[in-house]
Amino acid sequence: MPKRTQFLYAVLLILSVLFLTSCATGTRNRGTVCYPGDMPIIYQPAGAASHIVLHGETLYRISKAYNVDVKDLMKANGISDPTQLAVGQTLKIPQAVSPRMPGICLAPSTKWRYIIIHHSATDIGSASGFNKAHLRRGFSRGIGYHFVIDNGTEGRSDGQIEVTRRWTFQRDGAHCKAGGMNHDGIGICLVGNFDRDHVSEAQMKSLVYLVKLLSEHYNISPEHIMGHSMVSGARTHCPGRKFPWGDFRSRL
Ligand SMILES: [Zn+2]
Repeated sequence: MPKRTQFLYAVLLILSVLFLTSCATGTRNRGTVCYPGDMPIIYQPAGAASHIVLHGETLYRISKAYNVDVKDLMKANGISDPTQLAVGQTLKIPQAVSPRMPGICLAPSTKWRYIIIHHSATDIGSASGFNKAHLRRGFSRGIGYHFVIDNGTEGRSDGQIEVTRRWTFQRDGAHCKAGGMNHDGIGICLVGNFDRDHVSEAQMKSLVYLVKLLSEHYNISPEHIMGHSMVSGARTHCPGRKFPWGDFRSRL
């Protein structure tokens, strides 16, 4: 076999291996992995899908994730140059076939070493509500958590996972000053007051789903998955005295 043909075969083999592995894990965009949204995601309400562009995504990949034509995507968003996508830009997705895709996108990073779980200590809430509240409290970048798991209030469904802009931009959180966790820790907030109430089954399912994805992807050990109150130096009961640690840990 001529050397050139051998080389071509080798390239084809590598490409097909890459293709197969990307199918196994979800949508892979230059190192960013998007997991199918088993849980409804806020940015893709049924019938009116929109997508926030994550670091490393291309218009082509986004079109594949939603099974829409690149040309339709460009037209719907007034894009003339598909290479000019901005991180954090919101795209309208016309006629999305899978409005729940692409779900939770995980960018490659060595930054995240902890997962810190919070409760909102409020009866109701949502990412946009907390965003407004945190802006009022002087957090210049708004909501301090990376993810919010809703409890069926403020128009969200019970167990809905909301991905915030802190995550999209892979920024430090503003959720736990103690132990440097704002820098190293992914902040997840469950809406509710678990000093008093119980975590709903839908919220727990979503929490387990999300923590599994994050800890596997970033290689975070079980002892680095903590409640806010477990961080040394943190003076709080967060995520509440009734948070079911035994149940949660047994399901991870
Ligand atoms: Zn907290």
